Amino acid sequence: MYVAIMGTGNALPSVDRANTTIALAAGKGRRVTLIDCGGDPYRNLVRTGVDAKRLDDILITHAHIDHIGGLPSLIESLRIGERTERLRIFGNAHVLKVARGLIALYDFELTMDRWPFPIEFIEIEAGQRHQVGAFSCQVMPTEHAIPSIGVRMSPIDEVQGPLVFGYTSDSVYSPMLQAIAQDATLFITEATYPRGAEDAARAVFHMTISQAATVAAEGRAKALALVHLSAPHYAERAVRAEACQSYKGNFVLPRDGTIIELHAFHGNAQARVLSNLHQLP
Ligand SMILES: [Zn+2]
Ligand SMILES: [Zn+2]
Repeated sequence: MYVAIMGTGNALPSVDRANTTIALAAGKGRRVTLIDCGGDPYRNLVRTGVDAKRLDDILITHAHIDHIGGLPSLIESLRIGERTERLRIFGNAHVLKVARGLIALYDFELTMDRWPFPIEFIEIEAGQRHQVGAFSCQVMPTEHAIPSIGVRMSPIDEVQGPLVFGYTSDSVYSPMLQAIAQDATLFITEATYPRGAEDAARAVFHMTISQAATVAAEGRAKALALVHLSAPHYAERAVRAEACQSYKGNFVLPRDGTIIELHAFHGNAQARVLSNLHQLP
């Protein structure tokens, strides 16, 4: 399976880092699942070489604007792009309420029956397991300012081996996050603040880089990538140094467009960055 980290920034995007958005691809035809939908998701797909017709499902972790705000423009771009396939939106009750509201605000409901593709809303809650795109998705609890989830996702196609992708999305530091990271082939977590800003991070329900790396270390994740970064305010070298003090495994500091392949070799699952490749296979 492939993980395209299309955006790596926090809620305040910069030239180099868009709002955090991740695309997963696996299975026959490498169908794509989008995780979160902030910023300019259609452009992110194009930039990552993904034909939007490959997009099956969108999973939205929570309804903060940097995670859901791009939904109306994505839907409109898909329509203009003459999509015909069904689009499914997965989220908790709060996410679906906001998603429906955004769509209704633009009067999309009025034209829905003339659209070339149907939209389905599927409610998910922590503790449940769903099939999302080409993946089996375990929905995990996290603690954030509003209802939010983490996920552990594995390709349904067993041929690809025992691969586990874990993602916290936005969360305060908590021991319960270890369950998301546990032995993951690749664990991606937010890391919004630098060490020393623990109180500020907790006040707004986020983590420091050290806390994020500690979750990965305690969960014995095989690889770690940090997103929701506040760089360029914090230099990449400082982020790497802080993370690698707590986490001694395979560390990736992604940039927008970084693509990571998860694969199993003789039963040993590994993650590796596909260098010089900014197109999702
Ligand atoms: Zn966020
Ligand atoms: Zn948030």
